[in-house]
Amino acid sequence: LPHHTGVVSHVAVDIGGTLAKLVYFTRELDTADNGGRLNFLNFETHRIDLCINFIRQLKEEHEKRNGSTREGLCVVATGGGAYKYYDRLKEELNVNILREEEMECLIIGLDFFITEIPNEVFTYSDADAEPMQYAEARADVYPYLLVNIGSGVSMIKVSGPRQFERVGGTHLGGGTFWGLMSLLTGSRTFDDMLAMADRGDNSAVDMLVGDIYGMDYTKIGLKSTAIASTFGKVLRLKNDAEQGAEDGEGLIRGDPSESSESGESSHGPKPNPEDMSRSLLYAISNNIGQIAYLQSEKHSVKHIYFGGSFIRGHRQTMNTLSYAIRFWSKGEKQAYFLRHEGYLGAVGAFIRRQP
Ligand code: ADP
Repeated sequence: LPHHTGVVSHVAVDIGGTLAKLVYFTRELDTADNGGRLNFLNFETHRIDLCINFIRQLKEEHEKRNGSTREGLCVVATGGGAYKYYDRLKEELNVNILREEEMECLIIGLDFFITEIPNEVFTYSDADAEPMQYAEARADVYPYLLVNIGSGVSMIKVSGPRQFERVGGTHLGGGTFWGLMSLLTGSRTFDDMLAMADRGDNSAVDMLVGDIYGMDYTKIGLKSTAIASTFGKVLRLKNDAEQGAEDGEGLIRGDPSESSESGESSHGPKPNPEDMSRSLLYAISNNIGQIAYLQSEKHSVKHIYFGGSFIRGHRQTMNTLSYAIRFWSKGEKQAYFLRHEGYLGAVGAFIRRQP
């Protein structure tokens, strides 16, 4: 529940396929200066009712402070949900909803973070003693590539202020990780999934170069620890386990439809959920990193910004993306991340319609 002492003046919401991101400004009542704070929070889109309730409370606070004679609360909406839920927002909130185009908002939000906010943009590399380094403000901001990893992934080349083109994307994105993880591991929240990935060892399920060669494949430049095939070892492990069972002395196999209590079915042991989590997180982030690199080559861009809620400040995700860009570009290109990576669109919508 909102519980501010300040005045709410302006609300922006970016309603995506998975999450509705909300940004609003509050100004302290008893201070002389005009400062205030930007507040960030999100709701699952399938519980848009909770998001609407929250905005309604902001509106009530606004009216309490301003009286009904003054202008009503300004609500700006972007993302697909600005269309899908337009009528509902308008009716349930009884306010005027201003709609803004999604890509434009993303870019305006990112430009704002890059150029105006100190300690927002950073680089990341686990190889360094201090992995997270805040990026220096750059005079030559353009061109750059924005890779927004939400439910799906959009890649946008930005050539100048408000000058952009969506050059590609992939539908193997955050939603893919979220959905497959729930099937594979049964975990229900995104943060649980990330925590599981932290504890896992992908080499238990992924086929590595070393599994195939028994050593580094130096001629091609592949280390033995490089992933040759995501999930490529799973069936072989199951077959090995079955073979082991068949070879067992005097073992009589039971009804194959009966699975044992240890979780081992007639199809062999199920891989450990933590290991699968780590493997899938690598798979999705490596794939996006490689496509991002190829797009940056195709469009002659050196600086690549990664946004979207999938990143969620998670070390393994950022390190994988960053490593992919450095590796493929032979150190020529740089990946950047943002502290408010999920809120680019919402902040852009907020700025566009600032009163
Ligand atoms: P969209 O605009 O498509 O909703 P977002 O940028 O909000 O995209 O990112 C959604 C993705 O972020 C999800 O697919 C999931 O991978 C990840 N994510 C981060 N936090 C959450 C959460 N609390 N619930 C669900 N997914 C989350």
